[in-house]
Amino acid sequence: MERTVVGIDDTDSATRGMCTTYLAAVIAEHISSFATVEDRLLVRLNPEVEHKTRGNAALALHVETDEPKRVKETVVEAVEENAVFDDEKTNPGVAFLRGEPSDALAQYTREAVREYKTQEEARRIADENGVLVRGWKNGRGVIGATAAVGASRAFDDWTYELLVYRGEEEWGEQRRVSWDTFFDAHNETFPRTWDTVDEEKGEVVAVPAAPGPVVYGLRGTFGGVWDANAHVEIEEAERLAIYRTNQGTDAHLVDARACEVEDGGSYRVEGTVAEAPETREGGHVFFAVEGETGACLRCAAFEPTGRFRDTVRRLREGDRVVVCGSVSDRTLKVEKMRVVSLVRTERVKPTCCGRRMESAGRGQGYRCRNPDCDKTAETLVEESVEREIEERWYEVPPSARRHLSMPLVRLRRSPRHETV
Ligand code: ATP
Repeated sequence: MERTVVGIDDTDSATRGMCTTYLAAVIAEHISSFATVEDRLLVRLNPEVEHKTRGNAALALHVETDEPKRVKETVVEAVEENAVFDDEKTNPGVAFLRGEPSDALAQYTREAVREYKTQEEARRIADENGVLVRGWKNGRGVIGATAAVGASRAFDDWTYELLVYRGEEEWGEQRRVSWDTFFDAHNETFPRTWDTVDEEKGEVVAVPAAPGPVVYGLRGTFGGVWDANAHVEIEEAERLAIYRTNQGTDAHLVDARACEVEDGGSYRVEGTVAEAPETREGGHVFFAVEGETGACLRCAAFEPTGRFRDTVRRLREGDRVVVCGSVSDRTLKVEKMRVVSLVRTERVKPTCCGRRMESAGRGQGYRCRNPDCDKTAETLVEESVEREIEERWYEVPPSARRHLSMPLVRLRRSPRHETV
């Protein structure tokens, strides 16, 4: 028996159903009739790639087999039968590797999460690292399929997603699920699972709105998602798949200075609030952070981030923060932020006779406004300011979370991050 790693990407359509995770589950079932599927990976790639359908997912199956040729034929046949070829944006790709991925391939995978890759580069890397690729239509899917093949060696932090699917006749229909049971699942298994529900809003997050095959997806540790699933009740399910995934790991974030960030990348940047938050049309909140070199980075908490914007609005000029998120249009879309230190005092005019003094003229200090009082002061005084925000991490609500973004419930336990 030997190992064959299969990568699959870009088979689905935003409007006509299908989902590459579903197709991978179907393919895994076919392969299981003659070989052993040892591992299933759901790999999230660069979230800023503009031609993605939804979450820029690519899939990998690790197969132990004596019949690698049959594995290939099974995959190609399933893609040809199921991919949504008549969607202009669907350009499937598959990749096959005999044996384990090389370091160079793993490096390519990490870059595909953080950078933009061309099809030429994907094909070159594949060629140099023993990966056979096949693309359909414009062939773009080989970029993600190649990255999926290198994923098992690319990351050292993994979470799990358990997905339950419905049959094709149900796609586009209302999902018949018992909504309350998702709250039970959450209550019984959080923090081993996360993003099942939004407790504050009382909403279920695990059930997507898209018309496709996914009924729900549970995210967490391996044991957590199984335990949570035991609580969920739904009317009909066709199949279940559990994937090891780089979701919720911050694999996309690169530590950078404000002057280094570029459109299309995702970063963790420390700086000082240089422009206080301002709410603009549509409810989006903007502020600016200044790095050591004096470069300013515009940051945004967009309307869908909901109550996270209330936190952002409480920032003041001079506060020290770490902001995490992807950059487009020279703006970092904040996924989470650490308040490192807060401005606790401000310089204000002194008070006299119950009111703030007024300026006595340029360079002449301040005088009391009461005509019967002749008190004066030379300088401003320091006064403490009430802050409604604390020195700790804050994050967007579960409904606004990006797939790769590490929820705080994980971050607190991660040795790679300074705790709150
Ligand atoms: P879903 O999550 O619903 O399966 P999707 O959001 O994954 O859909 P795809 O339809 O797979 O979107 O489209 C993403 C496309 O972008 C694929 O063709 C993939 O090869 C390509 N791609 C992935 N990562 C990169 C990258 N870093 N640079 C350039 N192209 C990429």
